[in-house]
Amino acid sequence: MKVGFIGLGSMGSAMASNLLAAGHALTVWNRSEAATEPLASLGAKVARTADRAAQGEVLCSMLANDQAVREVFLDGGLLDAMDPGTVHVNHATISVALARELAEEHAKRGLEYVAAPVFGRPDMAAAAKLNILVAGQPAAIERVRPLLEAMGSKLWPLGDAPERANVAKIAGNFMLAAAIESMAEATALTRAHGVSAADFLEVMTNTLFAAPAYQGYGKLIAEQRFKPAGFPLPLGLKDVELALTAGSAARVPLPFAGVLRDSLLEALAAGDAELDWSALALVAARRAHLDESL
Ligand code: NAP
Repeated sequence: MKVGFIGLGSMGSAMASNLLAAGHALTVWNRSEAATEPLASLGAKVARTADRAAQGEVLCSMLANDQAVREVFLDGGLLDAMDPGTVHVNHATISVALARELAEEHAKRGLEYVAAPVFGRPDMAAAAKLNILVAGQPAAIERVRPLLEAMGSKLWPLGDAPERANVAKIAGNFMLAAAIESMAEATALTRAHGVSAADFLEVMTNTLFAAPAYQGYGKLIAEQRFKPAGFPLPLGLKDVELALTAGSAARVPLPFAGVLRDSLLEALAAGDAELDWSALALVAARRAHLDESL
């Protein structure tokens, strides 16, 4: 299939390389051109402008946040440059409100819009093992199914309205942040009484909390592996704020999300923006006046 891909960050570059590996004819664009080089060496065409990447049957995008998506697709005029009938598959974690607006803006122009946010960090993206939440018109989803299957291990359909996939992604990331914060606070407690984070998390993640989220982030906390960040703290803050905004819009109180937002802000105020969001463990340690090394 003739496909464009825009947004070649940690996730997008891994996802795009799997489209190439599956034999699709790929044209890529990224704001900073350097990120296109590894894909060009794998056989992708490089577009100098976003609209040149949008001339295939399908355009996939994996941009950072609402602001980036708005700048490129709406303010930058990319939607106006796309041919009617093209399917846009948006993988980014964006707000429910923007997802609704994008669905309307695509429909006005005769474009198809599929929301396909993902669970899985860059290593899972590289291994084509993402869990992909997908929502949009069934016919459009069927057209892009081979692409989604090349990037993920499982597709999770969530209905016709694109924003449903986004709200599920946002709610899932809220749960991940809560899991990290609970491990951060619990390990501060055990450490203050002489049990190391590694010993405590070994017990918990092999017994009561033997689930991928606890095991994956528990390992990062036990080993203090906060760098390089698979999911940097600012993106974590963005997602918890998306949950709070979606909650306000539907009058759904999320009291714990407020606590998570403040912990993430505290990490950023301490200068930790480059670290993975599992570095919430450092925030909990500092609050307890414990040595930052676990
Ligand atoms: P990233 O490495 O920071 O990449 C962000 C991408 O967005 C880059 O290509 C960047 O271009 C582009 N971008 C940012 N602002 C832009 C703008 N104003 N105009 C044009 N392009 C812009 O982020 P990522 O980790 O790949 O995450 C991408 C999305 O996936 C986010 O919504 C994130 O929440 C979600 N996600 C991430 C993970 C994860 O573990 N990392 C997992 C699941 C979902 P430049 O290269 O020019 O900066």
